[in-house]
Amino acid sequence: MNTTTTAIKDATPMAGMTEEELRVQLADFYHLVSYLGWTELIFNHISVRLPGEDHAYLVNPMGLHYDEVTPENLLVVGVDGKLKRESPYRPNPAGFALHGVIHEHRPDVGCIAHTHTTPISAIVMKEAAIDHNNFNGAQLYGRVAYHDFEGITIYSDERDRMLKSLGDKHVLVLRNHGIAVCEADIPLTFFLLWTVQRAAEIQCAAAAIPGPNVQLPEATKRKCAEDAQRLKDNAAFATLLFDAMVRKMKRERPEFA
Ligand SMILES: [Zn+2]
Repeated sequence: MNTTTTAIKDATPMAGMTEEELRVQLADFYHLVSYLGWTELIFNHISVRLPGEDHAYLVNPMGLHYDEVTPENLLVVGVDGKLKRESPYRPNPAGFALHGVIHEHRPDVGCIAHTHTTPISAIVMKEAAIDHNNFNGAQLYGRVAYHDFEGITIYSDERDRMLKSLGDKHVLVLRNHGIAVCEADIPLTFFLLWTVQRAAEIQCAAAAIPGPNVQLPEATKRKCAEDAQRLKDNAAFATLLFDAMVRKMKRERPEFA
């Protein structure tokens, strides 16, 4: 048995991070999403609330691919959806509706990620959306909120309805559209996004195999979700996982180093 212990870094709460550190970590998150093939042309967003900036948040400039996001070109957007700092770029109004309202009203949330990957977009077309009978899906049991499709999220009157749909959850299924996940910091949000993406991939693969799926008892799914939540609440674990994936990406894609 290997008794060597790997040093676990203390979790760095976002409130203890400087804006510069948040910019670097958020740019890494954008690159990681691209590296994993989860992008949608120039669309979608990942945002991070800036501590002490009156709910302002960092987000990608409209018109750049995730590969082109850098710590320097991330925008600072205020609760009114307008730029708080000068930039040659503009924010995408579709990002403001969803991200702005969550950053304004969910103080427990530091980071939000929204994707339209094919497996996620496919399962959210289904009435049941996320199936909780696979390993990753079971971890999300009882932890998913749902919002009905109203079109592209560019209208301010949908903001309050999206916030109400999310409630106190961290996963919001945008029916017939995609997913939004939110967590306290960047590594935790990446970990949750990865769990949802894997659940969707497995669900799609299982749906292509004839025959009934084994249905898990409710108590098993509940226990699995509770155990997973303890892991997901462990910011040190999420940071280990995030940093390992960033190192792997930078080894294979040195342009992101
Ligand atoms: Zn979208």
